[in-house]
Amino acid sequence: MRPAQLNILFQQTTSLAGVGGKTAALLKKLCGSCLIDLLFHLPSNVAYRKRITAFSQLINGSLGTIRIRVTAHNAPNKKRRATPYRIIGECLDFPAEIELIFFNYHADYLSARLTEGAVAVVSGKMEIYGGRIKMLHPDYIASDWRGIPEYEPIYPLTAGITSKGLAKSVRIILDSLPTLPEWADQPFLAKMGWPDWKTALCSAHAPKTQNDVSCLSPARARLAYDELLANQLALALVRMTQRKKAGKQLPMSQKLVPQLLNDLPFNLTHAQQRVIKEIADDLSASGQMMRLLQGDVGSGKTVVALTALLQAVEAGHQGVLMAPTDILARQHYESVSKLLKNMPVRTALLTAREKGKTRKEILNALAAGDIDILIGTHAVFTDEVKYHSLGVAVVDEQHKFGVQQRLALCRKENGVNLLIMTATPIPRTLALTNFGDLDISILDEKPANRQPIDTRVLSLKKAEELAIKLREKMATDTSKMQVYWVCPLVEESQKSDLAAAQKRYESLKKIFADRVGLVHGQMKGAEKDAVMNRFINGDLDVLVATTVIEVGVDVPTATVMVIEQAERFGLAGLHQLRGRVGRGGEKSICLLLYGDSLTPTARARLNIMRETENGFTIAEEDLRLRGGGDILGVRQSGLMLFRLADLSCQGDLLYTATQDAKMILNTDPQLKSARGQALRCLLYLFRKDEAIINGLN
Ligand code: ADP
Ligand code: MG
Repeated sequence: MRPAQLNILFQQTTSLAGVGGKTAALLKKLCGSCLIDLLFHLPSNVAYRKRITAFSQLINGSLGTIRIRVTAHNAPNKKRRATPYRIIGECLDFPAEIELIFFNYHADYLSARLTEGAVAVVSGKMEIYGGRIKMLHPDYIASDWRGIPEYEPIYPLTAGITSKGLAKSVRIILDSLPTLPEWADQPFLAKMGWPDWKTALCSAHAPKTQNDVSCLSPARARLAYDELLANQLALALVRMTQRKKAGKQLPMSQKLVPQLLNDLPFNLTHAQQRVIKEIADDLSASGQMMRLLQGDVGSGKTVVALTALLQAVEAGHQGVLMAPTDILARQHYESVSKLLKNMPVRTALLTAREKGKTRKEILNALAAGDIDILIGTHAVFTDEVKYHSLGVAVVDEQHKFGVQQRLALCRKENGVNLLIMTATPIPRTLALTNFGDLDISILDEKPANRQPIDTRVLSLKKAEELAIKLREKMATDTSKMQVYWVCPLVEESQKSDLAAAQKRYESLKKIFADRVGLVHGQMKGAEKDAVMNRFINGDLDVLVATTVIEVGVDVPTATVMVIEQAERFGLAGLHQLRGRVGRGGEKSICLLLYGDSLTPTARARLNIMRETENGFTIAEEDLRLRGGGDILGVRQSGLMLFRLADLSCQGDLLYTATQDAKMILNTDPQLKSARGQALRCLLYLFRKDEAIINGLN
């Protein structure tokens, strides 16, 4: 149970004075729905409203607060609304004239607030012309200095929320902040020169300098460390608990795996051999396997997964392979069936599309143990699915399958051995923070027959020209050449994704006639398959797609990847997409088309794509370039990033937290000591309830 003193922080934001349903909805989108979420939403900047008391302090273009006496109102002629309302005043603290300019105004409001002859304090951006100050729409109008903050936190915002409003809410929460027991090691705090938690939060929300909003500030470092410690402690707890649980022990395969490897039309890479052994050893040991397999696109993870599944089957259990999309599940099902065709292994496919009687039969057979390997989408882990005895579960291309889901699965399928696979190269820091509870295997070698992909960056304006060139090349080339044409990702709007793809499809039809097809996320499964199959079978030369093809699809004859408005994708996404080509023996090419607004960061990102194909390098660069600030990029990566910690500059703190978490659990595995109790509090603060319930009694 969460300690009672924390409850106040987990109240809804609507409990705050002045926050209604509409604001709460916006806040939820911005940072979360509880008070604690507001506290963890830190300012990204500080506005210094210098109190100007001498003419020499005026700096053109900067913010300032000035005491004035209103001398005149110049209201525009009613007929000409486009002319601004001007109010003239004299500065009280030094000899100068000030002009306040309003374009959107209520005349009544202005004459009440800035009555002629009255004294007022105004704050805003100052433009200085000779001896005259101009201020366009003051940010604040008050009756004395105290009505205007000298330092103002500037928060990352969303439309409808202002920094002023946020600051007000945060202040209310800070005023009733509970005093919590100290969970950090006191000598460590002293050594780092960090404040206690409460002080840290208060000063993080009241910055006065740029340094105060940078990750170098002691308050921010402290808060970041807390978050990282909670993360690492929770993962270490999960890891410790799961390791102690007995897993289904699966003896080394003597028949099925050797036969599979023998039947393969290619030789395994060294990396595949090594990883297959790591997994086989883990499965044959007594503990539960909890493993992450990282391997770049095309590194050959499917075969590795299949060996694990077969080891389960040979030991008399079942295996399941879950893919993120329908298309992928089907493709896996087909390639696995092909690889197993000479073996006594019964496979089945289960997605949302297997319905009625078929579904019933699959479920019954599964429960009776008449199916050995099930392949499907997330449907394979729903409650209606009962396994006879599940020995190995493989989750493909799903780095979003978080620790909560992993634990839920292990709880449902007692003793199951879990293998998570991802083609998203994950920087070391992120691997530690997202998968610290797992063992990691890495496929760091590509099959030998792969050729480098030629990557080029060009303007979207060249799209038509490019399409015509591609068609000419297809007409003259003897070898088969197929093209993926990916249309832009539009944030949070599948509809506009679709519109863009459809438009491109129409225009490409004029060039490629009936040799071009379209797939998108809103198509029905069967329609999607039909188009995909035509592409796979070579009946289509060009496949226009929204990002539904992002992961896993395998068409070795596809050698051209065109990505429109590539600057809108994260690097990881681009890398994934590019990995769709270069899978056969033919030379492949990737064309990144950029729209008109290319920021320097976007240009740098595209250049990285041109320079390297190494997924890990790309991932590290991606993290470096996007820093902590690029919310869209973060969302696209699907990985959990932190709210208080910024790994691009506080990576060191992560390693400290990892060590500390280990040390803590070594000496106090149940978190029973006084500090242990405080640490429980920390875990609840960061919503690690799951880890506590699972790992502590
Ligand atoms: P990914 O790691 O992206 O899931 P896949 O398992 O889909 O990669 O493999 C990509 C392609 O490479 C498949 O067609 C597969 O049959 C083939 N492949 C896998 N391993 C090897 C290998 N060692 N040599 C040659 N081809 C391989
Ligand atoms: Mg794959």
